[in-house]
This record gives sequence, structure tokens and C-alpha cells, in this order.
Amino acid sequence: MEETGRAVVVGAGIAGLLAARALSDVFERVAVIDRDVLTAGATGRRGVPQGPHAHALLAGGTAALEHLLPGLGDELVAGGAVRADLQHDLRWYSGDHRLRAGRPRLEGVGVSGVALERAVRDRVRALPGVTIIGACDVVGLTSAPGRDLVTGVRLLPRADSAAETRLAADLVVDAGGRASRTPAWLEEMGYQRVPEESVEIGLACVTRHYRREPHHLDGGLGAVAGFHPGTRRGGCVIAQEGDRFAVTVAGVLGEHPPGDHAGLLAFAESLPGGEVAEVVRTAQPLDDPVRMSWPRHTRRYYERVRRFPDGLLVLGDALCTFNPLHGQGASVAALEAQLLARLLAHGTDRLARRFFRAAASLVHGPWSIGRGTDLRFPELGGRRTAAARLVAAYLDRYRAAAAGDPVLGGALVRVFALTSPPARLFAPDLVARVLRHRAGSR
Ligand SMILES: Cc1cc2nc3c(=O)[nH]c(=O)nc-3n(C[C@H](O)[C@H](O)[C@H](O)COP(=O)(O)OP(=O)(O)OC[C@H]3O[C@@H](n4cnc5c(N)ncnc54)[C@H](O)[C@@H]3O)c2cc1C
Repeated sequence: MEETGRAVVVGAGIAGLLAARALSDVFERVAVIDRDVLTAGATGRRGVPQGPHAHALLAGGTAALEHLLPGLGDELVAGGAVRADLQHDLRWYSGDHRLRAGRPRLEGVGVSGVALERAVRDRVRALPGVTIIGACDVVGLTSAPGRDLVTGVRLLPRADSAAETRLAADLVVDAGGRASRTPAWLEEMGYQRVPEESVEIGLACVTRHYRREPHHLDGGLGAVAGFHPGTRRGGCVIAQEGDRFAVTVAGVLGEHPPGDHAGLLAFAESLPGGEVAEVVRTAQPLDDPVRMSWPRHTRRYYERVRRFPDGLLVLGDALCTFNPLHGQGASVAALEAQLLARLLAHGTDRLARRFFRAAASLVHGPWSIGRGTDLRFPELGGRRTAAARLVAAYLDRYRAAAAGDPVLGGALVRVFALTSPPARLFAPDLVARVLRHRAGSR
């Protein structure tokens, strides 16, 4: 592959680091810039408040990460992360239904976001030509006089807020997370507003870590109970490095989980299955509960804009955020970085158009499944077409049938794990199984 120039990545979260890995195939120099001081410490940092909360890599993301950084999975496991078969080691609840586990094995990893980021950062930092710069804000883009080409970024080092500098780049990739400034920067450059859609879910979550012992959950590695109409509560327990379980309980639309032990336990006991409650009730707590709020999920439709400058891309949470309980963001970011590497192998011509189109289809599955579930809450605004109502009714029946049918349960878990598109749930063989299921039977 022919090497060319310099790329700058805004944001050293998972998406930015993995984008840098992809860019290092074709750019001689790649600078990743983050406003936070990037320490090797075990705790989270300001720019990624999701750091302390329960975290897992799904099968689709695990495979993409391994492709980008071979051997990373073994490295994470050597550092204490937990390899899990997402079908059999994790219990999935959808509404009151526990999905029957199916086949084949789906490999995921229970690893905190902080440990994952640290491991990825160490690997990416060691790549030839890659520099990671902390404590530096990207405050804007620079562009060619016609404003149809981004030529670099404007920087403000945290140590000296008077000293704005410029860094030239042949490609700028915004991986600045959900507070991405690209929509505003584009408007300042005279471009149309990027169409976006938000679901005002008003999510609040509380996380606490517990000592994991072999007898917990009968040796299982976790459980996930999603939100569902009729309950504004959800939660998960996931094995993490350091022989710990992370318990995250969450409420939406004004339901706020309490942060004290008794309140947390009562909340956990109201979730289906009992796994989250078992850990809160019986395991040794290792820290104080941490709280976070997540007002909305947002998707930005860059693939729909008519004019877009050359030399600029957006990925990760900056492109689309998902329901945190579905645990998909880092995995989708890995798939996007893998896509970027694939497209760069064919050159940088019309890169933005090619990337946004292909990334839209990556994002579409997890976004539409999450959005479809959220819009079942009547409190949320948003258009519900007759087709959407029909899909929702079918999926209700699907979930009930999946409680007794490993073929249906396994197929749904593969969609959650990003190894099958949601369209698979509507394939004739599965529709026939759902229709054969007697309403109300388990
Ligand atoms: C509670 C919770 C639980 C989650 N659990 C999971 C899970 O189990 N599995 C999973 O896959 N995903 C999970 N996610 C989502 C996941 O954390 C993210 O989707 C993923 O890490 C990708 O984030 P990112 O790199 O795009 O953005 P971020 O992690 O937000 O990183 C953006 C970075 O950009 C920097 N930055 C922003 N603007 C600037 C600027 N102008 N100049 C310089 N630096 C800037 C920030 O400091 C930050 O470091 C969870 C999210 C939440 C909230």
C-alpha cells in the first residue's frame, strides 16, 4: 500500500484509537489528540464517564478487534478479562422472557472499558508513525479557501490556553464521542446542518463492583435484562477483569436507580431472572456506587448530506450512540475501524461518501433494534408507522417464542451480538417457528 501524508484523529477513546490503527496502514504519520490527560491508571477519566460501568465486547466487535490488533483478545484475557460464550455463559432477558441459548458459540469478552482502552492505547501507541497527544483540545477545523477541503485542525494545549496552534492533515477523523463538534464546525464552514435523530430516553444508571466467586450465578458470567414497555427498569451483571462483577442498574424516562445498598438491592430484585439481585445480595462490594446519566441516543445521518468536504470523516459515538445496556458502542466502533481499513486499501478518493454509506449499514441494525424498543414507550415522541407497529407486535411474539426455542433464542442473541443483521429475524424459517408458537405458552 502506498503511504501518504498525515492523518489527525480527534479523540483517544476506543473509536479514535482503532481509527488510528486503520489509518496507520496508509498514512506515514497519525496524530491522535485528546483533551484528557491519558494516564495508565485503573480508573476512568473525565472524557469517558462511561469508564466505570459494566462493559463487554460482543462477538462482532471481538472479531473486528482481533483483526485490527491480532492477539489482543489473548492479551486482555492474560490481564484478567473473561472470555465468554455469549449464548451459554450469559443469560439474556427480553421483557419477562429468558431467551433459550442457541448455537454456535459466540465469543465475547467481559472487560471494563478502562482496561480495554488502556490495552488498545498501548498497542496503537507502539505502531510506527502513531503519536498520541493528551491534554490538548481540538477547537476547530482548518480548510482550503473554497472550504471544500479540510486541511487540518486548530489546537489549544490545556497547559497554555492562549497558545492556539494548527496541525496540518491530509485527513481529519472526528472520534470525539457524543459531544462531537463536527456538526457545528461544518455549519461554521457554510455547510447544511447534518440531519440527526435523537431518542430522549432519559437514562440514569448506577454501577457497583463486587468480588466474583465461582459459586455465583452457578458459574455463569453474567446476565442482561433490557428495558421493555411495562418496565422502565433494566440492568446487567457482567464478569470483568480482577475477579469482579460489574453490576449496572438503570432506569429510563424519570426512573432513577438509588445509590445505597438497600435501594440498589430492591431495584435489582425487581429485574427479571434474579442474577443481578443475587450478586448485590451475596457478593462482597469492592467500591462505592457510581452514577451516570445518559439523556439521549443520537444518530447523525452524514450519508444523507448533499455537500461534504474532502479530508474529513466521523466515526464511533460521534456518528451514533446506542442504548448502553445493549453494550454495542465499542464493538460497532471496532467494526467501523475495520471498514475504514478496508476502504483505505482502495485509496482515499471519495472516501467520505464511501465510508458514510457503508458505516450507515453497520449502524442501522443496532440503531433500529434499540430505537424500535425505545419507541414502544408511549411517553416518547416520534413517528410510529403501521409497519413499525406490525414489526413490534411480531417481535413481542418472537421474544415469547424464543423463551422456549433455542433456534429463535440463538438467532436473537446473534443479532444482539452483531454477528447477524436484524433482517435475519424475519427470515421465513424463523417466522414459521414464531407463528407455530402458541400465544401465551412458554
Ligand atoms: C454506561 C455505559 C455503558 C457502556 N457499556 C458498553 C459495553 O458494555 N460495550 C460496548 O461496546 N460499549 C459500551 N458503551 C459504549 C462505549 O463506551 C462507546 O460506544 C465506545 O467506547 C466508543 O466511544 P468513542 O471512542 O466513540 O467515544 P468516547 O469514549 O466518548 O471518546 C471520545 C474521546 O474524545 C475526546 N474528545 C472529545 N472532543 C474532543 C476535542 N474537541 N478535542 C480533544 N479531545 C476530544 C474525549 O476526551 C474522549 O476521550 C457504554 C456506554 C455507557 C455510557
